[in-house]
Amino acid sequence: MSIAPSPTLRARTKIVATVGPACDSVDMLVRLIHAGASVFRINTAHGTEADRMEMLAAIREAERQSGATIGVLMDLAGPKIRLGVLPQDPTTCEVGQIFRFVRGSESRAPDELTCTYAPLIDELAVGDNVMLADGTVSMQVISRAAGEVRCQVTGGGIIRSRQGINLPGAKLSVTSLTEADMTNAIVAARSEIDFVSLSFVRKAVDVLLLKELLRSQGSNAMVIAKIEKPEAVTQLAEIVAAADGVMVARGDLGVEMDVAEIAVVQKRIVAECQRQGKPVIVATQMLDSMHHNRRPTRAEATDVANAILDGADACMLSGETAIGEFPVESVETMNRIMLATEPFLAEHPLRAVEQIPGDVHPVTAAAVSGGAKIAETLGARLLVIATRGGGTCRLRSKQRDFVPTIGVSDSTNVLRRLALYWGVTPLAGAPVHEGPKLRAFIDQWGREQGLIQVGDRIVFVTGTNFYPMAQNILVIHEVE
Ligand code: PGA
Ligand code: MN
Repeated sequence: MSIAPSPTLRARTKIVATVGPACDSVDMLVRLIHAGASVFRINTAHGTEADRMEMLAAIREAERQSGATIGVLMDLAGPKIRLGVLPQDPTTCEVGQIFRFVRGSESRAPDELTCTYAPLIDELAVGDNVMLADGTVSMQVISRAAGEVRCQVTGGGIIRSRQGINLPGAKLSVTSLTEADMTNAIVAARSEIDFVSLSFVRKAVDVLLLKELLRSQGSNAMVIAKIEKPEAVTQLAEIVAAADGVMVARGDLGVEMDVAEIAVVQKRIVAECQRQGKPVIVATQMLDSMHHNRRPTRAEATDVANAILDGADACMLSGETAIGEFPVESVETMNRIMLATEPFLAEHPLRAVEQIPGDVHPVTAAAVSGGAKIAETLGARLLVIATRGGGTCRLRSKQRDFVPTIGVSDSTNVLRRLALYWGVTPLAGAPVHEGPKLRAFIDQWGREQGLIQVGDRIVFVTGTNFYPMAQNILVIHEVE
């Protein structure tokens, strides 16, 4: 049986769930959708292209079975540098111990380290910090010689082969889009992926390059800039303007910057996205302890709540759903925290969008803003938005009021993008181009869902040029 998720049961804040071995069957994916997941993230840092295409097919089948409209985000690894194979795996690093980064991909001695980025030993400078094992191990460059860079351990711990390396502050010439990223972006375009995120963005042009590549391949995917480098934080306004959406990627950000600054940086990024009307995802370690526990810690539950109060459009689960023991419970828990937190947001509204995004006509922006006010004044049960490219719904979502909002479009690709927008429920199959038919369709759907009854009001707003002779249309309908 297919159950279309009702907008009253789901939180308004969206859940992005990373897929992996813990949820790779259609059945599990359907359960995650019913628990509240709206977007699935496929991480290109792991697995093969064949694995990813199989995963995508499973997601699309789960979408069909659940009757929901689901977005898929393909996450490009970007210029992530990794350790090569260690001769001793794992290796314990003691404070004061010296390790040497050498050329090539093979370590010949226990103190020799290699990495996936060949120019590293030419570009590291004395004094640079090298962080390993998610920041738990740190080293500092103490000298350079022909063919090697000597580092001294400043924070001890255990390292393993192929772990990521973070180089906070080091100036590297590495390109923002690697060859693997370009190949994956072309695959994303070909497989009608809805969102493509880029890791380790440093400047706005990184985002624009990816956008151009996708557009040249006929893809309209939204490009999400992952903010996880301090350089990106200093270029924030430009990067947000260039991107279609943003991710606060706290995993790497918390290594590249002092972890003490993360909460404030998150608030700044989320506020900039609100100012520019762009969706923002808060990511990593949100319910980390649920990898192995049925219940989150108090701090984690509070973290999810605070992200929503900052103004996040979506929160992401990473290993919790990809490799954890309790994927369904993790999504259910996140959804529950969201439902409990959102009413507080009604008492503490976010600031209004200041910069109307370029893809939304000013007349449309005025119609959406007016429509929402009318809906609130009348206590309307639904606000229905017919959108061509999705921009109208995105702007609506950033108004952050509580009139349940339905997004309709004749394009499946556009509807899937709405899956990320706060407070907007995409509804497939609506006859968007014929006013009376659209009204009848929503009437019937709303009654079936138990959302409306006789006497209720519904406000309809259309994006630009849906009907001849009208820039936008705003209709108030009373259910008979
Ligand atoms: P990742 O990105 O999980 O792909 O590294 C998110 C983050 O760094 O927080
Ligand atoms: Mn990352």
